[in-house]
Amino acid sequence: MSPRPRSEQGTLAREPELYGRSHLGNPLEVWRPSGVCRLLVFAAIHGDEGETTAALSRALRQLTAPSPHCAVVLASNPDGLIRGTRGNARSVELNRNFPSSDWQADPVLHRSTLDAPRDVALSPGDAPASEPETRALIQLIGELEPEAVVALHAPLACIDDPNDSDLGRWLAERTGLPLVPDVGYPTPGSFGTWGAEQGLPVVTYEFGLTTPDDAVREHVPVLVELLTRSV
Ligand SMILES: [Zn+2]
Repeated sequence: MSPRPRSEQGTLAREPELYGRSHLGNPLEVWRPSGVCRLLVFAAIHGDEGETTAALSRALRQLTAPSPHCAVVLASNPDGLIRGTRGNARSVELNRNFPSSDWQADPVLHRSTLDAPRDVALSPGDAPASEPETRALIQLIGELEPEAVVALHAPLACIDDPNDSDLGRWLAERTGLPLVPDVGYPTPGSFGTWGAEQGLPVVTYEFGLTTPDDAVREHVPVLVELLTRSV
């Protein structure tokens, strides 16, 4: 696929479809592939990781045609993204709200910055899949039936792939990021844990601490390749 002329890359070439609404009523949008869906790539389930949305959008804007096999969700937590919060508008940590067997009701602690203590608390929700954004993503995956999912996060600078899959190894090789089997701490109710229980391989692609310009230089070419590769 030849890239779009640079002068046109400021705009998205195609309109997405709606796969649901957030708590605040914002659209949950998916750009569908032209062919059978093999892969889903989603960004910003943590609303404070907007660099993942910006990079994935830039990659999508370079395509002259829909991705052949890859569905794209630019903002899986749009309410968090517009408010700059990690959780959704109900202060729920969506990446602990998935109905995995290990889901826990305990507050989820996270770091405000990479070097800060893990002392900021969010709710994992009142119950598994209590949030509209969680339920919509589960329903979308049930409909698309992708063979794998790539979840974009920041800033842990790694490719987290418990399956040591070809896809994970390819991403590690292309990005130069280390391939790891887990992020080093328990993540009950996370999307990845839920996916594993569904037999759905999930690769977590964690950008590092980076400037917006460096994020574009480092990750957009990889994301373009990911969206355009045949498998
Ligand atoms: Zn994250």
